[in-house]
Amino acid sequence: MKRFSDSLRLLFGGAGRKPAAEDFSQAALDLHAHKRKPEETKARVAAIREELESGHHLGNKWRFRRWASIVFWNALFVVSFYFDIQLVEGSLSASRLVGFHMADLNASLQVMLAFKEVLINLAIGSITVFLLWWFFGGRTFCSWVCPYHLLSEWGEKLHLMLAAKGLVSDHAFDRRMRTVLYVVFALLAFGTGYTVFETINPVGILSRAFTYGASFALFWVGLLLLIEVFYSRRFWCRYACPVGLTYGIVGSVSPTVINYNLENCLHEGECRKVCLVPHVLDVTKKSYATGLNVSVGADCTRCGMCVDVCPTEALTFKIKGLDKLL
Ligand code: SF4
Ligand code: SF4
Repeated sequence: MKRFSDSLRLLFGGAGRKPAAEDFSQAALDLHAHKRKPEETKARVAAIREELESGHHLGNKWRFRRWASIVFWNALFVVSFYFDIQLVEGSLSASRLVGFHMADLNASLQVMLAFKEVLINLAIGSITVFLLWWFFGGRTFCSWVCPYHLLSEWGEKLHLMLAAKGLVSDHAFDRRMRTVLYVVFALLAFGTGYTVFETINPVGILSRAFTYGASFALFWVGLLLLIEVFYSRRFWCRYACPVGLTYGIVGSVSPTVINYNLENCLHEGECRKVCLVPHVLDVTKKSYATGLNVSVGADCTRCGMCVDVCPTEALTFKIKGLDKLL
C-alpha cells in the first residue's frame, strides 16, 4: 500500500524519498548488506567497467518495437481515411475502431466537463480505452501510440547530441506543474464550455494533421519541439501533458509492469540516464529497493528503454503472476 501511495505521489509531481527502515523486507536488507561488503563492491565495480567497455548498453529491441507500433497505429488512421475502408475513423482523441467507439480519456473528460453531461458514446469509448490501458499499465499510450512521443524522442536525441558538445543544457521544471495544468484545463473546460486543452494538445493536433491535412496548430507543435531540443529535455511530456497524467493514473494498478530485480542489479544507473521519467527508477539506486522484486511506478511509460540498456536483466517486462513477458 505504501509503495502504491509513493508511486502516485511521484506521478503527481512529489519528490522521491529514500524508504524508511521499516519499509524493507528482511531479504532485501540482507541483500543490501551483502552488496556493501568490500569484496562484493569491488566485483560490482569491475563488472560495471566491463559492461560499459563492451557496449552492452546499446540495445534497441524495445525502442524499435515501439516505433513500429506508433507508426502502425497512426498510419492506420491515414490509410483507413484515404482508402475509405472504415477500419478506424476519427483521430486519437476520439475514434471508431471496426465499429467500436474509442475515446481518449482526457479528451472525454474535457468534453463532458464542457457539456456538463455524460455523453453515452464517449462513455462507452472511454470504458474500452480505460480497460485497454489499465491492462498494459503505466503510460503505455505515450510510448506505444502517441505520435508526439516519437517526434519528441528524436528531439531528445538532438538535445543530447548538442548537450554533449556543450551547446545546450537541460532546464528542469517543477513536475507538479503537470498536475496544476491538469486541474486548470479541467476547470477551463467546465467554466468556458469549450475544450480549451484540445486546441494545444499535440496528440490530437498531429493525429488530425496526418489524416486530414496540416493546420496552423502545427506551429505550436514545432515550438514545443524547439523548446525540447534547445532548452528543456522532453519538456511537454515530463512537465506539462495532462494526457500522460491521465494514463498514469489509469495504469497505476496494472497487471503489466516493469519489474526490478535487486539481485541482478549492478546499480550503475544506465537506466536512469535513458528514462523519460527517471524518478520512477529511484528504486535502482543502491540501498533503495525495499524488496527483491519491485514494480516500477505509475509514471513509467513502459517504453522498455531501461530494459534495452540493462545488460544484467535487472529490469524486465512482466505480467504479474506469469514469468517474464519477453
Ligand atoms: S505525455 Fe502527452 S504528448 Fe507525451 S507521450 Fe504522453 S500523451 Fe503524448
Ligand atoms: S522505467 Fe523504463 S520502461 Fe519506464 S519509462 Fe523509464 S525507461 Fe521507460
